Amino acid sequence: MKPAMDKPQVLLDHHLRALKLPTFLNEYPKVAAQCAADKADYAAFLLRLSEAELLERERKGAERRIKAARFPTAKSLDDFDFLATPGLNKKQILELARCEWIDQKENLILLGNPGTGKTHLAVALGVAACRRGYAVRFFTGAGLVNTLVEARNEKALLRLQGQLAQAPLLILDELGYVPFSKTGAELLFEIISQRYERGSLIVTSNLPFEEWTSVLESERLTGALLDRLTHRVHILPIEGESYRLAQSKARVKRPSPSKGGDT
Ligand code: ADP
Ligand code: MG
Repeated sequence: MKPAMDKPQVLLDHHLRALKLPTFLNEYPKVAAQCAADKADYAAFLLRLSEAELLERERKGAERRIKAARFPTAKSLDDFDFLATPGLNKKQILELARCEWIDQKENLILLGNPGTGKTHLAVALGVAACRRGYAVRFFTGAGLVNTLVEARNEKALLRLQGQLAQAPLLILDELGYVPFSKTGAELLFEIISQRYERGSLIVTSNLPFEEWTSVLESERLTGALLDRLTHRVHILPIEGESYRLAQSKARVKRPSPSKGGDT
């Protein structure tokens, strides 16, 4: 053994690195000093260090999952103004953020006009799931269909399907803006079928269910897709006008124009 390794501190640093306990390594001198000052015993010292290690591990894990989910924006429930969306039940959203519905493999559908906060809520609930330890994948409907078609052309469809199946929560944002090709609609249907009772989905759409045929083209396919998607589902209809529009109107203080049903 080299002479330097005889020093207990060098050995300790080495062992903590080998055991992959970086927070123990960084914090033990500080925590030791605190414990000495507090006259805390050895068990309290170990407890403080292991708590710090666990917290840091959870924080890093959540960060990794949030990055892997590929959310388009950073949104959280903290910056969602529930007063601006009176039809929405805040208690229900906070309950959904606890993710028990994901354990139950249930789905969530957010329906409403553009600008009403659907993407914001979908991302916020996705982030909440990442923080609670669930792997999440975020796609726009069109983005996922393109990715699926590409994967199929490159004979990598099975691998992609396998990857998606591993995430307990898949978010499909903006179903309804772009109609899909026949192949695209079929590939999307396959994904939704594969998740049925095995994983959760959040789907957001500006279209009421009656109009989904206009995106998926086939009435039969739309029926089968809705059948699976809505079997065990929480549906949140979001009423009202665009949040951005309302904000701009409030800024310029113009009288609001009469309510229209346009998008
Ligand atoms: P949608 O997906 O329904 O079209 P978004 O979620 O993209 O709408 O919302 C549009 C913008 O308005 C976003 O920047 C979003 O953060 C913001 N927004 C919408 N509703 C709210 C709300 N109730 N509180 C805070 N910000 C909101
Ligand atoms: Mg949106």
